[in-house]
Amino acid sequence: MDLSYPEKYKAFRQEVIDFLKQNANLAPTADFRLHRPDQQWLDWQALLIEKGYTARTVPKQYGGYGAEPDILAESILTEEFSRAGASQGLDNQGTSMLVPTLLEVGTEEQRQQWVPGTIRGEVIWAQGYSEPSAGSDLASLKTHARVEDGHFIINGQKIWTSSAQFADMIFILVRTEPDALKHKGISYLLMPMDLPGIDIRPLVTMTGDATFNEVFLTDVKLPVDQIVGKRGDGWQVANVTLKYERGKLGNPREAQQRFERLVDLMQQETINGTPLMENAVLRDRLLRLQGRILAMTYNGQRVLSSDLKGENPGLSGMLIKLNGTWLNHELAGLAIDVLGELGILYDNSPYENKGDWQRKYMFDLGLMIGGGSTQIQKNIIAERALGMPKEPKYAPGDFPAEGGN
Ligand SMILES: Cc1cc2nc3c(=O)[nH]c(=O)nc-3n(C[C@H](O)[C@H](O)[C@H](O)COP(=O)(O)OP(=O)(O)OC[C@H]3O[C@@H](n4cnc5c(N)ncnc54)[C@H](O)[C@@H]3O)c2cc1C
Repeated sequence: MDLSYPEKYKAFRQEVIDFLKQNANLAPTADFRLHRPDQQWLDWQALLIEKGYTARTVPKQYGGYGAEPDILAESILTEEFSRAGASQGLDNQGTSMLVPTLLEVGTEEQRQQWVPGTIRGEVIWAQGYSEPSAGSDLASLKTHARVEDGHFIINGQKIWTSSAQFADMIFILVRTEPDALKHKGISYLLMPMDLPGIDIRPLVTMTGDATFNEVFLTDVKLPVDQIVGKRGDGWQVANVTLKYERGKLGNPREAQQRFERLVDLMQQETINGTPLMENAVLRDRLLRLQGRILAMTYNGQRVLSSDLKGENPGLSGMLIKLNGTWLNHELAGLAIDVLGELGILYDNSPYENKGDWQRKYMFDLGLMIGGGSTQIQKNIIAERALGMPKEPKYAPGDFPAEGGN
């Protein structure tokens, strides 16, 4: 079997390497989860779109590069950007979740209105799904909207809403058909974040940063045409977005970037003058992780091939979020062990990018919960892919009241 890349891809790889040699110094490093993308981010994003290195398959009429999906080109981009330690573009809830959702199920008008500004990083989106009593059981959400004079009047509360503190827009799930079954009464709306009646209060994560928020909605007025799909069909649209969210959170690109950094770190760090790369135990851990990264990378290619053929990727697709987030967490854990006592240092540590590995290690725990927790992913795989018996569903009244005999 010949696993080498055909000539045209070798030329493409060289083009990407040359680009990075000349431009990698322009790549931003500021965390776009903490702040709006600054001018450096916007410039980098524009440059990558122009070259076709990000928003590569977004059609030209919506501001993208307009290339056909191409698994090998994508792999080359990931490999070379990882090697150069440069960001391959904004990967936020707008670019990676809303844009593909609108391309899949939005109207032509919605695509024209929202895709160009979002991929350029000018329009920032938040995701309004979770509520205090609707996380894993998302369909039990209670935020509701009634219709009056051509407007939805929205009341309720969202929680854990990442980026809401600087987002321009939110794609939000609300109950619009109170009498319908719980999965049938939901609508998927697109709402500006500066409407009267929206109150945003920050929540601090385990990293110490306030990356997510509570969002309170009191009589918020939104025109009824700001909806994706039909009224009451929001559950289907929400699941399209969730599919892209799980792909984003488990994307092996991040793992590959961490791996490249870890290799450098293990070559630099020493014990008694011997590089840690020569420590059998640590090298064994590194190689095991590398094996899993390769498996996830090829699994990602299998999913993309299925998508291109219009087939359901089944188990391969379901594995991405569970394995990808887990793998990233273990990569950060190895880096912390390699750094020894310096690994536990955090904000403003003078070593290894200011305690960045420790921050990642803690933030990753959140990513193993967000977008559907690890336990929920295991349930999905067990029930939908492996055909194991379904989890029993209990209704109120199935158990005696607390304290009863
Ligand atoms: C960093 C971070 C960012 C987030 N960003 C957003 C955002 O931008 N927008 C948004 O809408 N939401 C966001 N979330 C919320 C996230 O989607 C929810 O936290 C997640 O869906 C879990 O819901 P919950 O927190 O209510 O936990 P619960 O659903 O209450 O679950 C609690 C625990 O019980 C387990 N559990 C629940 N049901 C089952 C079951 N049936 N079988 C086995 N175990 C079960 C879960 O795995 C979990 O361990 C974010 C969360 C985090 C951590």
